[in-house]
Amino acid sequence: MTIRAQIIVRGIVQGVGFRPFVYSHASRRALNGRVLNNSAGVVIDLEGEASDIEHFVRDLEANPPPLSSIESIERVENLVPVEYSDFQILESKAEGQKLVPISVDVATCKDCLSEIFDESNRRYRYPFINCTNCGPRFTITERIPYDRENTTMRVFEMCDVCRREYENPSDRRFHAEPTACALCGPRLRLFDREGEELDGDPIVIAKRLLERGQILAIKGIGGFHLVCDALSKEAVGKLRSRKFREDKPFALMARSLSAIRPFCRISNHERALLESTSRPIVLLERTKGNAIPRSVSPGVNTLGFMLPYTPLHYLLLESSDKPLVMTSGNISDEPICFLDDDANQRLSGIADYFLTHDRPIHIRMDDSVVRSFDEREMVLRRARGYAPAPIRTSIRFERSILACGAELKNTFCLTRDHSAFLSHHIGDLENLETLRSFTEGIEHYRHLFDISPDVVAYDLHPEYLSTKFALALDDVEIKVPVQHHHAHIASCMADNRIEGEVIGVAFDGLGYGWDGKLWGGEFLVADFSQAERVAHLANIPLAGGAKAIREPWRLAAVYLNHVFGNSFVELDVPFTGELPLNRWATLNSMIAGGINSPETSSMGRLFDAVSGLLTLRSKVNYEGQAAIELENIADKVATDIYEFQVNGDEISAQGLIRRAVEDLLDKVPTAQISARFHCSVAHLIVNMAQKIREERQLNRVVLSGGVFQNMWLLEHAVQLLRASDFEVFTHSRVPSNDGGISLGQAVIANARLQSGGEI
Ligand code: ZN
Ligand code: ZN
Ligand code: FE
Repeated sequence: MTIRAQIIVRGIVQGVGFRPFVYSHASRRALNGRVLNNSAGVVIDLEGEASDIEHFVRDLEANPPPLSSIESIERVENLVPVEYSDFQILESKAEGQKLVPISVDVATCKDCLSEIFDESNRRYRYPFINCTNCGPRFTITERIPYDRENTTMRVFEMCDVCRREYENPSDRRFHAEPTACALCGPRLRLFDREGEELDGDPIVIAKRLLERGQILAIKGIGGFHLVCDALSKEAVGKLRSRKFREDKPFALMARSLSAIRPFCRISNHERALLESTSRPIVLLERTKGNAIPRSVSPGVNTLGFMLPYTPLHYLLLESSDKPLVMTSGNISDEPICFLDDDANQRLSGIADYFLTHDRPIHIRMDDSVVRSFDEREMVLRRARGYAPAPIRTSIRFERSILACGAELKNTFCLTRDHSAFLSHHIGDLENLETLRSFTEGIEHYRHLFDISPDVVAYDLHPEYLSTKFALALDDVEIKVPVQHHHAHIASCMADNRIEGEVIGVAFDGLGYGWDGKLWGGEFLVADFSQAERVAHLANIPLAGGAKAIREPWRLAAVYLNHVFGNSFVELDVPFTGELPLNRWATLNSMIAGGINSPETSSMGRLFDAVSGLLTLRSKVNYEGQAAIELENIADKVATDIYEFQVNGDEISAQGLIRRAVEDLLDKVPTAQISARFHCSVAHLIVNMAQKIREERQLNRVVLSGGVFQNMWLLEHAVQLLRASDFEVFTHSRVPSNDGGISLGQAVIANARLQSGGEI
């Protein structure tokens, strides 16, 4: 007997693969009906034998299509049959269409992989193989709806065979928009730096060139990589000097887990992260004395590895267990190249050869960076494979908000209902090219997700280019300024889907405070609409402004001067031996005169100061380097601890600095001094949290800000807080650094507008 039932599937159903999947399963069971997307989810209207429908639902539950994460399957039965004569995929209603999320870019699937290495397959060794379950998505999408005409694949006319697959609902390539083959699709080409094309199989030659220590610029999903043999000291050194990237770690790619294992330990959770279809760079602990030259990641105890994620990567790494350096194709801190012309120009001084192709990349996208913490994924840079999937929030956004984010590690955010469309990592808004990615990115997301913001949220810092952009927007009336550290705490709350009042610990580099000073060592009591600054690190002068960030010795000198007076220069510690006395004299009179010495309560700068005091380096080559190296030298266990003094709402580090100097005079190893310092900061967090708990009856502690990328500190702080029965929240889906600021701004603006309070 034929019955009719409706199945409503809710959850994240990525891309276009879901409806074809339903189609093929329904046809296999001779079920007729319709499938369509609407705002409720995917609605499947089925007619057929009750047992067939039953099996269909069980199949869906047991083996959902790849890339989907089903939240619920609801069934409405005993409907009056309409006597469908076939099964059809209905076009989404205009309304629903816009709500279909644009999929993230997905790593090559198993089926495509077995085809590419199968001699009898017509796509044997075709470097652009893909299907509905894998391949480029967001980076080739120009506009909605997502179909071939609206992607950069538009320029390739499908051959008859590809078209038949594309049009066949039971084929794995049914409506796979980037479908292609060697006859009709994109083609790989290899050039030297003069633009001369090399004859022969580009992959075979490219592999040979890499083996010979050459540097290749290789076009990928979101831009160009600079690639070389990771085991060759010469090649790595050449790349480093040509790229002007003195110390920043290079990312690596290896063929398989077993090709990574000689260099890094891999936990089960890390393995899952490496193998996820997002294929991020995963920071792994480096084993001692392995064959990867130190120059790949100087001064850092981790290596950033990823597994191949395009067919081209698989072909390049075929039958070789040697890892490759795969770093972003740029010079220094510029954004990565993603257009061929641009790459030829900007990378010609770095790359010896260019391995490229004619499938245009529509939007620039870096590789994502994650690590494992507490058996949870901790995203440090959210880009390819993650964006533009929305961050689902527990709160509902009542208005369409555009949040412009911070200056460094910028992201922006657009909102609708329970979704925060947090952009991919844009970069540091300090050069024109990055600023253009920011403004064009906002336009692109606005169109793709059909969001016209009527509210704009921005950072209090008047000099941030994102702030200036927000203030200059004339088509948005409501503008909501948000304090930087409040935004950090709110972003971590949204990340963890919690609401209400919490104890917020915001430790970072620098952020603009309500008093116009530079904050960064903050204890807040906060909810989404308000924040109260209950305690903070005592202010010190940031001697020389931005220069103090690049030269940690300045901060060490400032702290020592506070503790010991000017006679600190006579202390018998290595630091004073290296101190440029004349420069210190100038600096000291600058501070006295209040010239270019803004006050700061930054915890990040205290880390710099201690790093400077231990003479780890006098100058940093990238933001956070001094603190990273301080963490890396730290002993695992601290045998003693320093103390901060708390006077009212001020936390002084003077006693701590004095103790560290005494330890130096006693010849305590710097590794131990570093551990003691880290341990002191972890204890400060717990002590302050306990004090605030007693006064405010709050038990939830939220840790945010760039300083919490420090794993020594994070692990110990979380451990101590849990031991004191606090509920602790750390970042997972959203970075704790300034990449999370825009999300925080969005939830705060939403809460303020809702409560009708003061903006
Ligand atoms: Zn595939
Ligand atoms: Zn074809
Ligand atoms: Fe920050």
